[in-house]
Amino acid sequence: MTETPPPRRARAEIDLGALRANVRTLRARVAPHVRIMAVVKADAYGHGAVRCARAALEAGADWLGTATPHEALALRAAGITDVPVMCWLWTPGDPWDQGIEAGLDMSVSGMWALEEVVEAARRVGRPARVQLKGDTGLGRNGCQPADWPELVGAALKAEAEGLVKVTGLWSHLACADEPHHPSIAAQLDVFRSMLAYAEEAGVEPEVRHIANSPATLTLPEAHFDLVRTGIAMYGVSPSPELGTSAELGLRPVMSLKASVALVKHVPAGHGVSYGHHYVTGDETTLGLVPLGYADGIPRHASGRGPVLVGGTVRTVAGRVAMDQFVVDLGGDVPEPGTEAVLFGPGDRGEPTAEDWAVAADTIAYEIVTRIGARVPRVYLDE
Ligand SMILES: *Cc1c(COP(=O)(O)O)cnc(C)c1O
Repeated sequence: MTETPPPRRARAEIDLGALRANVRTLRARVAPHVRIMAVVKADAYGHGAVRCARAALEAGADWLGTATPHEALALRAAGITDVPVMCWLWTPGDPWDQGIEAGLDMSVSGMWALEEVVEAARRVGRPARVQLKGDTGLGRNGCQPADWPELVGAALKAEAEGLVKVTGLWSHLACADEPHHPSIAAQLDVFRSMLAYAEEAGVEPEVRHIANSPATLTLPEAHFDLVRTGIAMYGVSPSPELGTSAELGLRPVMSLKASVALVKHVPAGHGVSYGHHYVTGDETTLGLVPLGYADGIPRHASGRGPVLVGGTVRTVAGRVAMDQFVVDLGGDVPEPGTEAVLFGPGDRGEPTAEDWAVAADTIAYEIVTRIGARVPRVYLDE
C-alpha cells in the first residue's frame, strides 16, 4: 500500500525558532536567579507539548509545568527525564504512585490530596515531591489562609516521617493581566504572609512562585524564585491592555493556514452558508475555506473572523460550519489551492490570534488552544 500523503486542507505551522526566541526574551526580563517554568499544559496550548517542551529547554527554561498528572507523565514517557516537571490539577484517585516514581512535583491544595500522596509514598517507598498551593485570593484551586496551618502542619509531619519533601510554596494571580488592579497587591501580601507562616513552621522550599506570563512581563515584585510562563512563550500577548506581541518583544509561534478548496462566481442576492446570514450584495466570487468549528474555528466568529487570501484580508461570510466556511472574494478569482491565512505573526498582512479573539469575543489563549487534532502541526526550525 502506498502511504497517504499529508493533508493539503490545512495546517498549523509551529515556529520553534520563535518559541526559543520568546523564552530568551522572557529570560532577559527576569533576574538571573529566577527560574523559568515553561507551561506546556493542554498540549502546549495546542502547539504540541513534547516538541515545545524540548525547544523551551534548549532556550534556557529550567522547569516544565502542566495542569494534569497525565500531561506531566507523558513528558517523562517521551524521555524528558532530567528536568523538574510540576503538575497542579489533581483529582481524587489520580496516579500519585506514578507521579512519585516519575519524580514529578505534585501540587497539593487540600487535605484530601495530602492524604492520597502520603499513602502513595508509603506504597512506593519513596518520598513524594510536593508543592503546597495557597489560595491568596483567586478563589479557584489552592488552600484558604484559614486552612493553611492545618495543611502545612500535616505536610511537615509527613516530611518528618520521610514520606514527602515540600519542594515548593506557590499561588496564582487573578488579575495579573490588568495592571494596577487592587487584587494584585492584596494577593502578594497574602502570599508573603502564607510563605512566612510556612517557613517559620519549618518548610524549606526550593521554589516560591506566583507569576504567570502577565506578571512575568509587568510585575518584577511577583517573580520570587520562579515564573510560570505559558502564553508569552507562544508569542501571544496575555491581553490587549499589555500591548501587542511585537510591543512585548514576542513573536507568535502558531500560524493557521488552509488551502482554498473552491472559488466560484455567484449572482447578487445569493445566500451563503447555513441560515443564510450572509447574502451577496452584487455579483461576486466566493472562496471555500476547508476549516470549521470541528477544527476549533469559533462558530461565534461567524460573519466576523478575518482571513488573508490573495493579499487581501477577507471576512468570514455567514456561518462557520463544522468543517468549512466561506469568504466573499469580491470578484477576485484566486486559484483553488491558494493559501488562506487565518492567523500568524501579523507582519505579512495576515490577522493575528488576537484579531480572532476580538472577532469571537474571547481571549487569544482560547483561539490557539482550541485548534483541533484534525489540523496537522507542521514544525519549523526544529
Ligand atoms: C496556565 C497556567 C499558567 C500559565 O499562564 P500564562 O498566563 O499562560 O502564562 C501559570 N500557572 C498556572 C497555575 C496555570 O494554570
